[in-house]
Amino acid sequence: MTDPCLICMKPINDGLTWQGLLNLEKKKTLCADCSKRFVRADIIEEGPVLDRVHSLYAYDDAMRDWLHQYKFLQDVALADVFADELKKALGGKDIIVPIPMHPERAVERTFSHVETLLDRAKRPYRQLLEKTTVSVMGEKSRQERLQMEPLFRLADTATIEPVTYLLVDDIYTTGTTLRQAAELLKEAGAERVEAVTLIRSIQN
Ligand SMILES: [Zn+2]
Repeated sequence: MTDPCLICMKPINDGLTWQGLLNLEKKKTLCADCSKRFVRADIIEEGPVLDRVHSLYAYDDAMRDWLHQYKFLQDVALADVFADELKKALGGKDIIVPIPMHPERAVERTFSHVETLLDRAKRPYRQLLEKTTVSVMGEKSRQERLQMEPLFRLADTATIEPVTYLLVDDIYTTGTTLRQAAELLKEAGAERVEAVTLIRSIQN
């Protein structure tokens, strides 16, 4: 018996193969119908602050459903769906830095979604960044403060070396988050800052 599909919960019926019997085949997490919905886009973007961003998927219906079920319905098991692909995309030589969760959101959610993705991909990471807390007091609106104040600071224990750092986030939309994180790491001495995101959402 195999485990059910992580998305539709139907049994995964992939027939018996000699690789399967010998456990040489990679364990499937999705049924054939669900896995067909996910089409790799491999979008690469380059820039001056953030040297390179590799996004594995476009923000299509399949990824929107996955993100909703993973992040908002907190179906943690869904991190397994992309574990192997993320592991390959991350490689093995750069220092991996997850984008931290906003403290306000940490209360709403019970798990750190980016760190969980990395845990399931079995890639070690360093939590070098801390989200700054934005004060809601005062006459300026919360939106104005969010635009003015930095999103991150370096963790007290962080030492930055002149090497390549690889930021990881689930979704890349405007790029503000990733660019601010890249800027901070570069000011502290990072030679190159790249990023890998699962999803690239292009806003119209
Ligand atoms: Zn399915």
